Amino acid sequence: MSDATSQGAHSGTLRARGVSKCFGPHRVLDNVDLEVAPGEFFTLLGPSGCGKTTLLRIIAGLETSDSGSILIGDNDITREPPERRPFNMVFQGYALFPHMSVGDNVGYGLRVAGVRNAEIQRRVTRALDVVDLPQVRDRDIGDLSGGQRQRVALARALINEPIVLLLDEPLGALDLQLRKRLQEELRAMQQRVGTTFIYVTHDQEEALSMSDRIAVMRAGQFAQIGSPEEVYRTPRTPYVAHFIGETNLLAGTLVDAGESVQVRLAEGLVVQASAPNGHGQVGDAVTVAVRPEHVRFVAPSEPGRDGRIEQVTYLGSVRRYRIVLGDGAEIRVTQSADEPAKSGDVRLSITDRAAVALAADES
Ligand code: ATP
Repeated sequence: MSDATSQGAHSGTLRARGVSKCFGPHRVLDNVDLEVAPGEFFTLLGPSGCGKTTLLRIIAGLETSDSGSILIGDNDITREPPERRPFNMVFQGYALFPHMSVGDNVGYGLRVAGVRNAEIQRRVTRALDVVDLPQVRDRDIGDLSGGQRQRVALARALINEPIVLLLDEPLGALDLQLRKRLQEELRAMQQRVGTTFIYVTHDQEEALSMSDRIAVMRAGQFAQIGSPEEVYRTPRTPYVAHFIGETNLLAGTLVDAGESVQVRLAEGLVVQASAPNGHGQVGDAVTVAVRPEHVRFVAPSEPGRDGRIEQVTYLGSVRRYRIVLGDGAEIRVTQSADEPAKSGDVRLSITDRAAVALAADES
């Protein structure tokens, strides 16, 4: 893919319009629309099998769609082969040549394209600088650690100066600590070079920490597209609330649908909620989504719901409680680990306006 000379005609917003794809009887992508702005870090997030990789491969030209189109700026590139698209792809397995040096791996694409040797050397130096690996240029790929190999793969993809870099779980094979470090580095690198990144992951924390926007996918469709804060704070459906971070879903009834939206939960506790997707009528059954950090322990005399702590997990900065409520429902609560640990019977309340009211029939 990617030939720097073709970029002038190819700059601008990346669009997917009405993209559908079936494998046999199985519809893997269902009329997907997507718009990614230049320089954006855009993440496709969803469980295994929801169609993330297939969408990425269709954008790259490695897979054909049954219907729909891919555009970059005003150019329809749906029928362009991968090598004529101004994109590059980075895979989980790196796909490096084991018998070549680091420098030869990074410069491979330019050599195949017939670029002069002096120019190749200059650009290899720059690409290795960008990924912070100038000192390993002459080493064999086999001598590098997993994290270093991943950075070489990035350098090899960035050297062509693609307008869009497509990354399919690029950190998936690395251990947690290295993964966290590379997440930060990758984000900083993306901001430095200004390349559009479309990043596939099933790891919601990774998506939240790196992205400008996230598309939460479910069974070949987008359940919600928004900034990390939007999808976390104002999920549109219980599915999104569940998939992005831990959440409690509690059944209730709408008791005020005016300026302030109020929901009565079991045992009569009334919570003030936001309703970003609009709300129904007083008396409607609704589900409220409440993050564990928005449930508070209160004194027995205060309004609240009673429960019993079943499990406490110490996680360093916070404690996580699993609590069974009077009606048998479970709720999860996190509290700063600086607070004394609790046990036994407790009373719980919910921070005002932290709950999000969702129509009960959305799933
Ligand atoms: P993962 O995180 O596991 O990679 P994903 O969200 O990227 O999942 P895809 O790889 O896009 O999902 O796959 C979506 C569905 O399409 C899966 O059920 C998969 O088995 C199926 N699929 C993907 N490629 C093919 C193919 N070439 N032939 C048949 N079925 C396929």
